[in-house]
This record gives sequence, C-alpha cells and structure tokens, in this order.
Amino acid sequence: MILIKAGNFWDGRSDQPSGYREILVENGIISAVDCEVDCSKSIQIIDLTGYTVMPGFIDCHQHLTLRPSMFGQFWRYAPAYKTICGVDALRHNLMNGFTTVRDCGDMDLHGYTVRELSQAVKTGMITGPEIVVSGHMISSRGGHMDVTSSLPADSIPFENCLADGPDEIRRVVREEINRGCDWVKYAGSGGFTSPSDDPSQVTFTQEEMDTIIGTAKDFLRPVAVHAIGPDAIRRSLKAGVRSIEHGSLITRELLSTMERDKVFLVPTQVAAIRSMKIAKDPNSSTQVPRHIIEKFSKYQDDLIEGTHAIAESKVNIAFGTDMGIISYAMNPAEEFYEMVKNGIQTLRALKSATSVAAELLKREDLGVLAPSRSADIIAMAGNPFTDIRATENITFVMKKGVIYKK
Ligand SMILES: [Zn+2]
Repeated sequence: MILIKAGNFWDGRSDQPSGYREILVENGIISAVDCEVDCSKSIQIIDLTGYTVMPGFIDCHQHLTLRPSMFGQFWRYAPAYKTICGVDALRHNLMNGFTTVRDCGDMDLHGYTVRELSQAVKTGMITGPEIVVSGHMISSRGGHMDVTSSLPADSIPFENCLADGPDEIRRVVREEINRGCDWVKYAGSGGFTSPSDDPSQVTFTQEEMDTIIGTAKDFLRPVAVHAIGPDAIRRSLKAGVRSIEHGSLITRELLSTMERDKVFLVPTQVAAIRSMKIAKDPNSSTQVPRHIIEKFSKYQDDLIEGTHAIAESKVNIAFGTDMGIISYAMNPAEEFYEMVKNGIQTLRALKSATSVAAELLKREDLGVLAPSRSADIIAMAGNPFTDIRATENITFVMKKGVIYKK
C-alpha cells in the first residue's frame, strides 16, 4: 500500500486543481482520494506536497517503430532495428509522464513489432507505457501507405496492408484483428510528408470506407483514420469512424458534424503547425525536403484556418503527437504548449491527454484519478494551469502502482 501526499491535486476531469489531497494506492489501483485518507495498515508514504499531481498522460497517436530517418526507405531497416527504436521510444515516453500510448501505425511492414512490444511491456520484459495497438495503416494501392513505388526495382513488393475493393479490404482488416490489434487504422487521405500524394486526395471510395468500418465493428474494434483534407474527413464520418487523426484542413461544418456524432479529433498540432512553420522558415537549420515545403506553402492558409476552427469548436479533442514522424528527441508533452499557443484552452488541452483520451480509448480505468481507477500517477513542479510548460518537466511517474521515476 502506498499513500501519496499531493500538494496540488487534479483528477483529470475537474475544471481546476483541488489543492491538497491524499491518494491511497493498493495493488496498482487507487482505493481512496480524500483530504485525509484513513489508513491503519503499514504503508509507504510518498511526499509530493511541493508538486502538482495528476493522471499519467495518454498519447493517442504515435509511431513507436518509426524515425524520420526512415522516410521513403522503410524496407532498408530490419525489424530488429525497429524493435530497438520502439524500446527506446517507450522508455522516453514513460520518463516524460506518458503511461499509455496508442500506436497509430506499425512501421514494421513485414511483421507486428508493436504488438510484440505491447506484450513485452505487459509481461515486464521491457519498461514503458501500456500500448494500445492499431496494427498497420491500411491503405489503397497508390494511397498514403503504399510505399511500393519507392522500392528498388528488383525487390519483392510489400503488400500486406494494401487493399482495394471490399473483398481485399475485409481480408486485410480481419488479418490485422487476428494478429491482435485493438484498433483498426486506415489512410483516408494523402499527407504532407509523403512524396507522391496530396492531403486533399481521398484514397478510398465510400463503399471501401464503409467496408473497413463495418468489418471492424463486426469484430468490436473501433476505427481511426488518417484524414487531412475535408473530403476524406466527410466520407470517413459518413462511414462511422471513431477518431479523425490530424484533420488539419477541417471545416467548421465538419467540426459541427463531429460534435453532433461524438467523433474525436486528434489534431497532432506539432506535426502540422510547427512543422509547417519550420518548413516555411528560410532561417531554419532543419533540412526539409522540397515536396514538403511545397505542400505546406500550398495549404498554409487552410491550415491556419483549420487551427482556428478547431480552437473555436466544442469537438472532443484527444491528445496526439505523431511521434515517429516527429523525432523522439522531442518531449511529447510539447504538444500541450503547441495546442495552447494555437488557441486551445489549457483545461481542454490537459483533459485531451487524460479523461478525454481515456474516453476515446473506451478505457474506464484510465485518465482519471478516482477510486477503482488504475494508479497511473505523475507529478510536476509548478502548476500547468498557469504555465502549460510545467508538463514538460515530470519529476514523478507511477504506472499501475509501480514507481518508475522519483
Ligand atoms: Zn501518424
């Protein structure tokens, strides 16, 4: 049994922190939260009276097995290397207060490395956040995840997450689920970083999207879509998707539909807005490929308008960084600062990585500090409600009752 004395406690869903609270943890679960917890049994006391204490962060969009250096040449990197990348990414996440991560697309195109990493964390072989697994990003041929055009001419094309037409799509979705994926993820539009497509392109027909989501629903799996342009978002919403990933060129009309239908948006604003600013900055030291600069130039105004529309909407925002596309040298918590800078209220940003993220993942044990919830607890100096950058300096991490950083 562990008793945490929290100087400034926030439960992950209230409008503001509630000051001093004591949290009792038993067997990895929170058993009590109160001004003074009555406990007669022998316990370990952790003094966090000088800190703000809140639920462990949840990042709903990462690619644990990807690094920017792999762009355009995934096949050059062995699964073993991608596994090592994953192990390193997991440690980085946990040390920065991220106790749950949804992987939104395994970049080991020949295997299911993220699934293996998830099992290794569960059995304690490696240290990291709990992983929610989306498998590979299912794509049409010519779509966002079709990397075959950049393969060497004499190589065997990799096709196992590519599918066209309802029959192929059903087979691929069922295969991904059979390999143990918790979510299904597909590419509904092109992207900014990919060399041969455009964010406005829609890469599956309505019938194909209906088939992806219908098949996943039969197997009780929720679906996330990579959708940047409005047409891909509109079609995906019609098909019944649970989360729109990126949504960078979204319109106010589509945001209203999402509010009405309770669809979540994972806006990944470091990947969209900060990357656009770096790409457009003539003084930036970062080398950005020509095609990315051109696409960001083309869509700059729409990106800014989309960001304003998101901030002014009431849509459920869930936290996601797109780490993997973004270098793991970055602290994932920088997404909080980016959101707030782009007009999203601090409370909304903080809830996006706690109670709202747990709601997206349909996990009633996560994201809130209350009795019977998982003891995923973090602490930081300072108050993130007055300085959002306090989230970037996590000094205490507990996951399921086990202390990883103190
Ligand atoms: Zn992504």
